[in-house]
Amino acid sequence: MPRPIQLALLLAAPLALIGAMVAADRLLAVPSRGYDYVERIVLPPAAHEVGLPEIKGPLDASRPLVVIDAGHGGYDPGAGTEPLIEKNLTLGLAKALRDELLERGGIRVALTRDDDRFLLLPERSGIARRLNADLFISIHADSVESNDQARGASVYTLSERGTSETAARLAAQENRADTINGVQLAGTSDAVSAILVDLSQRETQAKSQQFARLILREISGQMKLHDREVQSAAFVVLKTPDMPSVLFESGYVSNPDDAAMLASAEGRATFAKLTAQAIRAYFARQSNQ
Ligand code: ZN
Repeated sequence: MPRPIQLALLLAAPLALIGAMVAADRLLAVPSRGYDYVERIVLPPAAHEVGLPEIKGPLDASRPLVVIDAGHGGYDPGAGTEPLIEKNLTLGLAKALRDELLERGGIRVALTRDDDRFLLLPERSGIARRLNADLFISIHADSVESNDQARGASVYTLSERGTSETAARLAAQENRADTINGVQLAGTSDAVSAILVDLSQRETQAKSQQFARLILREISGQMKLHDREVQSAAFVVLKTPDMPSVLFESGYVSNPDDAAMLASAEGRATFAKLTAQAIRAYFARQSNQ
C-alpha cells in the first residue's frame, strides 16, 4: 500500500470511531418519556432564605395548613395610586382572611408577610413549601390604566399557556415585581428559570382547579366577578409543582368602586367570609377522598 494512503487511513480511523460512537448513542439511547417539561427545582442557597412566619391556629400538626400571600410589599407597591395601592389592600385582605379562618377554627394559617415588607416571588411560595402547606393562595388586585370601567374578581391557576391575552398581560405585570427598572433582582433569575414545572403533575393541577372553582362558586352573586371561569397564566408565584396554588385577583384598583370596596372594612369582611368558605369546602373535600 502506498505510504500516503496508509497515512490517510491512520488519520481517518479516529474519525470513524467517533462517528460510530455518535451513531451508537443515537440508536441505543433510552427513549424519552414524552414529557416536554422536566421538574428541576433549584432553591436559593440557605443563606438567602427568609425566616419562616408563625403558624397560627390549632397546635395539632395534622390539621390542614393554608398559607396566605399578600401580594407585593415594601418598595414594590403593586398597582394603584396612594392611598389605594395594591400592597396595602392585599395585606388588609390577607389579614382579614386569616382572622376569619382562625375564628372558625380547625385550619392552621400562616401569612407570607404580615407587614409592609418586600419578598421575592419564589420566596413567597418557598415559605409555603418549607412550611409543608396544603394550600397556597396569593392575593392581588388588578389594574388597567386605559379602562377604569374594568372591575370584578378573577381566579387564576398556573399554566405555561395563558387562557387569553389579558391573562398573559396580567402575569407579565405581576411577574415584574421581581425587577427594578427592568433589571432582574440578584438570585431571582436563576431560581425562577430553574423552576420548570412538570405539567404532567396533574394531581396538583387538578386540586388547584378545584379550589379555584370553589372560590368562584362562593363569591358569585356576592362579589363582582370579572371572569366567571377559572383563568390561567404563567405566574411565577404559582410555580409550585407539589402544592395546590391559586392567585386571587380580588378586584381592580383602577376602578374607583372596586378600590373603595377592597379598602373598606365591609369589603374585607365579605372577601374573608367567602374565601374562607371556599377554603373550608376545599379541605372538607380533600378529607372525604
Ligand atoms: Zn399584584
